[in-house]
Amino acid sequence: MIKRNVRLPGKMKRVKQMFLLTVSTILLSLSLSGCAIDEWVLEGSTNSVSHEELPQQDRLRVIFLDVGQGASQLLISPSGRTMLIDAGNNDQEQVMVDYLKQYGVKRLDIVIGTHPDADHIGGLDRVIDNFEVGEIYMPKIQANTKTFEYLLKSISNKGLKVKSAKAGLTLNWDEQVQVKMIAPVNTSDDKNNMSAVVKLTYGSTSFLLTGDAERESEQDMISSGVDLQADVMLVGHHGSKSSTTAAFLKKVSPEYAVIQVGENTYGHPKQTILDRLSKAGVEVYRNDLQGTIEIDSDGQKYTVNTER
Ligand SMILES: [Zn+2]
Repeated sequence: MIKRNVRLPGKMKRVKQMFLLTVSTILLSLSLSGCAIDEWVLEGSTNSVSHEELPQQDRLRVIFLDVGQGASQLLISPSGRTMLIDAGNNDQEQVMVDYLKQYGVKRLDIVIGTHPDADHIGGLDRVIDNFEVGEIYMPKIQANTKTFEYLLKSISNKGLKVKSAKAGLTLNWDEQVQVKMIAPVNTSDDKNNMSAVVKLTYGSTSFLLTGDAERESEQDMISSGVDLQADVMLVGHHGSKSSTTAAFLKKVSPEYAVIQVGENTYGHPKQTILDRLSKAGVEVYRNDLQGTIEIDSDGQKYTVNTER
């Protein structure tokens, strides 16, 4: 169950304080109008995410699902279309199926497997087995693993054809949201650097979802000349120091960053990266500390909800 929190400048407020918050936020938003800061949206009385709005809503929802050490982002468009980017590791299969049901998802219009590492595609086979899927995108790189083999089996059982994830694609998802794939720019033998990277633009708001793209891919994206600026950034490769180079961070220049990380032996996220983000004044959210993180956009402002 997701508690709805609102991120006000500097402090986290819980839904229990909703009444107080509503009053204070109205005042705050009056005094802050013009600032691209979160807005408190009063939505019924429950402290769990409501799914009835799936068919129509006036916001873009980007949900960074807590899948432990791994990554998964569920996106729901203003007109209720769905996209799933990655699905956590093999041990998260049932968790993923349960999450999607919990969010009221019956069909995934677009599925993206950013790259064939288990912590991204491990849960994807079961997801594909259990839900209707429109299109699936993956980069042209294989992994010699059972995990990858099972995924290909699920894809072929469903009669789906994999579309090649690469820079320059515009994905047809929702008329109101521009979805561009901006990496991989070049081919690489390195799976992380073949990560599909997606940029979404809705009104004046933007999201950059980076998979496990590392320095090499970041440099390619910069060289490609694409507009990298995004207010919300998924920190590359779980906060490893192989990613989020200073040059890349400068180009993206985010206000908010999310690190999809769980208990791990790699030392993710690295302190160097946390320091770099903090120095750049970026507000950082982490799945290991805050559970599932949802960042919504109404086209102008962001609302951040965290599980804890
Ligand atoms: Zn990963």
